[in-house]
Amino acid sequence: MSSPANHRMSADAGAVQRDELTMRDMPHAKSYYAESAHASPARPALAGRESAHVCVIGAGFSGLSTALTLAERGYRVIVLEAARVGWGASGRNGGQIVNGYSRDLDEVEKRYGEAAAKALGDMAFEGGDIIRERIARYDIDCDLREGGVFAALNKRQMAGLKERVTSWARFGHSDVELLDEQTIRQHSNTDLYIGGLLDKRGGHVHPLNLALGEAVALEGQGGIIHEHSRVIRVEGGARPVVYTEHGQVHADYVVACGNAYLGHAVPALRHRVMPVSTQVIATEPLGAATARRLMPAGSCVEDCNYMLDYYRMSADNRLLFGGGSVYGGTTPANITAKLRPHMARTFPEIADVPIDYAWSGNFALTLTRIPHLGQLGERFYFTHGYSGHGVTTTHLAGRLIGEAINGERARFEAFAALRNYPFPGGRMLRVPLSVLGSWYYQAREKLGL
Ligand SMILES: Cc1cc2nc3c(=O)[nH]c(=O)nc-3n(C[C@H](O)[C@H](O)[C@H](O)COP(=O)(O)OP(=O)(O)OC[C@H]3O[C@@H](n4cnc5c(N)ncnc54)[C@H](O)[C@@H]3O)c2cc1C
Repeated sequence: MSSPANHRMSADAGAVQRDELTMRDMPHAKSYYAESAHASPARPALAGRESAHVCVIGAGFSGLSTALTLAERGYRVIVLEAARVGWGASGRNGGQIVNGYSRDLDEVEKRYGEAAAKALGDMAFEGGDIIRERIARYDIDCDLREGGVFAALNKRQMAGLKERVTSWARFGHSDVELLDEQTIRQHSNTDLYIGGLLDKRGGHVHPLNLALGEAVALEGQGGIIHEHSRVIRVEGGARPVVYTEHGQVHADYVVACGNAYLGHAVPALRHRVMPVSTQVIATEPLGAATARRLMPAGSCVEDCNYMLDYYRMSADNRLLFGGGSVYGGTTPANITAKLRPHMARTFPEIADVPIDYAWSGNFALTLTRIPHLGQLGERFYFTHGYSGHGVTTTHLAGRLIGEAINGERARFEAFAALRNYPFPGGRMLRVPLSVLGSWYYQAREKLGL
């Protein structure tokens, strides 16, 4: 691991400009993760014509999971990544292994019926298992720690967590524990919460190192990754062709996994999700004693607000504190100023501690907050729209698409059958950013979502 030192004072200055720079030059966003990432080989850009069974667009968790599922089954897979492996949300996120989907299973049942809820429920805890299987099988060093907590700020939220216990038990996951005002302090030693829920099958990882490890695993299975290879166009049909500026891949199947960063490459997907940015700050190393005092059990925590705070300790005892959402996916000018008050309210003891890193990333939101998997033709698959909870679901989605291409379609179809609603009038910028948030809620209400 390289040493993430000496970025104090300047962690946040010019965040907007820096993000523009990363868009042009495409190194990783300047984050704690990028600075503590394992060495990763430069993977040459696509040049000329290549062919594959499957061409995957995007080397985040969705693309890597799809590719690895297929490579493990003997398919020749080429992954085209616009920037670097893990450059998108997968290499910048809170690292929290959160089970379930962004929408509770009861909500899925109300909206899509019992059969859909049963099908989704049966898979709801598989994503975390896939991550652990891959870490073990491929010996991926990514600081895995067990235990994830949902924290309730009020009685309504606590009641929701109790319902979640019942709902999860219906689908076979009972490895959970309700926490009261005292016991939650083992996980987050703050006055804020009235209780919570410990998911013993939750946990956290260094997400960029997980993605980099999965990329190496994929290459070990014969997969090929081209970095700096932005897909500009896909020609569908019986033998799809995927074009970058300097090359093309002829494949039996294409899978689009660009999520919030896909841009214009696949116009049919553009209005199906809206990019939303969320931010993370990383403190200076706090020392083992302080880290243990603030978060004794070493689990990760997210609160139950819609605009949630999420946080955990890194392997070197920094508090990684995330929160905030900006509809449309822009980067706030001063991330630290935005997040520090939330951190200070949670842990007053470290209110003024230096912040070494501050960064932003985009996830893709659907109107239903259910991930959107599907096909744009017999040989053209896509997945996106995990709506802020994608570390586990990306891994599941990749497996489901891999299975479908391999002829095992039932589980993929359970997801693909769920109706997705396009964002009316386009997903961004046609609506002023300041009103996007309230507009999002109004649109959902109108559609009864
Ligand atoms: C700051 C932040 C915190 C989060 N915290 C959590 C968390 O703690 N837990 C959780 O469950 N979820 C969290 N999420 C959500 C989660 O990170 C995402 O849902 C998940 O990583 C999405 O993975 P992905 O592979 O689909 O997309 P991405 O990781 O965004 O990957 C898409 C990749 O496709 C590439 N790409 C795009 N277009 C093209 C193109 N045309 N050609 C070639 N390549 C292309 C991009 O460069 C990118 O590398 C967070 C998200 C953010 C932004």
